[in-house]
Amino acid sequence: MPYQVLYRAWRPNSWRQVVGQKSVVRILENALLENKVSHAYLFSGPRGTGKTTVARLLAKAVNCKNRQGAEPCNSCDSCSAIQNGTSVDVVEIDAASNRGIDEIRGITESTRYLPVTGAYKVYIVDEVHMLTQEAFNALLKTLEEPPAHVIFILATTAPHRIPVTITSRCQRMDFHKLSVGEICERLGEIASSEGIDIEPEARDALARAAEGSLRDAISLLDLCSAYGRGKVTRHDVEDVLGTSPLEFMEKLVRSLAAGDARETLRALREMSDAGKDFFQLAQEVGNFAKDLILLKSGGDLSELTRPSDESRRMRELASTISRNFLFALMDAAARAVSEMRGASDPKLVLELTLLGLARPSQQTEVEMFRGDPGFKGAPLDKSDKPYTSQEQRVEDPGSTALVGFSGVEVRGESPEPSQEDRTDKGPVTVQPVNVSLAGPEEILNRVKSVWDDLLNVLQKRRLVKARAYLLPGKPVGLRDGNVVVLKFPATYTTHLEQVMVPGTRKSIETELSKLAGLELRIVAVPDEPEASGSGGSDESVAKPNEEDNPLVLRASELLETAARKKSGPPGTHVDSRPARRDTGKRTG
Ligand SMILES: [Zn+2]
Repeated sequence: MPYQVLYRAWRPNSWRQVVGQKSVVRILENALLENKVSHAYLFSGPRGTGKTTVARLLAKAVNCKNRQGAEPCNSCDSCSAIQNGTSVDVVEIDAASNRGIDEIRGITESTRYLPVTGAYKVYIVDEVHMLTQEAFNALLKTLEEPPAHVIFILATTAPHRIPVTITSRCQRMDFHKLSVGEICERLGEIASSEGIDIEPEARDALARAAEGSLRDAISLLDLCSAYGRGKVTRHDVEDVLGTSPLEFMEKLVRSLAAGDARETLRALREMSDAGKDFFQLAQEVGNFAKDLILLKSGGDLSELTRPSDESRRMRELASTISRNFLFALMDAAARAVSEMRGASDPKLVLELTLLGLARPSQQTEVEMFRGDPGFKGAPLDKSDKPYTSQEQRVEDPGSTALVGFSGVEVRGESPEPSQEDRTDKGPVTVQPVNVSLAGPEEILNRVKSVWDDLLNVLQKRRLVKARAYLLPGKPVGLRDGNVVVLKFPATYTTHLEQVMVPGTRKSIETELSKLAGLELRIVAVPDEPEASGSGGSDESVAKPNEEDNPLVLRASELLETAARKKSGPPGTHVDSRPARRDTGKRTG
């Protein structure tokens, strides 16, 4: 018997065997049991998630002569013919290579003839979004009045490219990417049945690499098993996939964090010499940074699908690098990925983007707050430095110290920092606060009423990034008389962080102030219970470990200002602010 590739051999023959896609399976099973199968379906979802597999199962089930409930028997004439691809009643078309009107007209004309062996003629059109407009029109005529013995199953990875006239006549089923856990489980079953000896870590690596596509995962298992002659180790998987070994990632991240451009370039050159695909590498760098952030946030090692010894080493690495740097690295990797599309030299794009991170800055984060009238000192880690520091940062969560500044520098007529230029951390222009006449609710309402205008103005002024980062945020309250509190959904951490980057924040504040006719400032907070609402104890002000986060720094700064207003002698700038305070929360 000739060798059959694994993913064909392991294609599900019953609804029970379908991995994931529970809601799709349940809907189709119910339709079969109640004899309410639709005449047109649209199966949409990423590649390798089971669309054509489920389509064939449905074709088998509707035509099976001995169906048990919703399950096809897999042994009658009809089932066997569909299984072998010889059924005349089930027609599969790849629209990517048959996209013209003639092919579709041929199909629609054949719908007039009755099925030969089964009850239905089933047409499975894969990648249906590839059809031409004329072909869609021809298909539409049949979909408008489908013969009773015909079922169309249109499958696509790009549902938005299908005319709404077509989609509105189909019952739509959304297929989702499979989880790493689901893929791992299936790979384990297949490996043990096929007598493939696979290390758990190798299985995890394959499941991750497949990115939600079970078909890819099984094909990779096939490939690795052939490579290792029936035994699959993590090393084999790395050889086959070209996965960056942990050592390389460690070296790259350490050299970037240390601002060492030479080491960074050397690490990248090593990968280039090894024939590494730079597009894939950029994605891996982004994933690596994300995993380090997860570990740094106290995430569980089991949440990472990396091998356990790898996770331990990553936790050690994460403890030596600031969260700010990791967010910047993740952002840079994402930018590199998007800029690489269509670039003639992807390696150069990645090098330039990453070297932008390694560039040392002139000023520290502490210095950039000097131009801020509200800043009277914030709790700072003694080792607190921006991620661009030449030295590698070692965090000591236990040590905190209050650093104060006697000279608050306010300089007029300095150029407005552009959001494009994040290295500009010079003093900012501050105009007199003139909000004392309006109440907090009135101010907040005014902010809300100009919010859409603000987004438009940012767009017009080409502050596209500032606008994009601001989009998920909503003004929800007012603090200290003129600080607008913006809430961001918990999943938009990066947006929130980017809005608080001084240049971006200042651009937004300037435009917002102009529109509202008031001197306003902003603070971004995640949409969850605020630390400041818990009574304002010192512990809630400064959480060790988070001091490198600009958001926390800013929040601490605001609370410091508020505390000084209550107890200490008021300074010039503090005095010029209204005493009214609204945390955005109503207590009663
Ligand atoms: Zn059957």
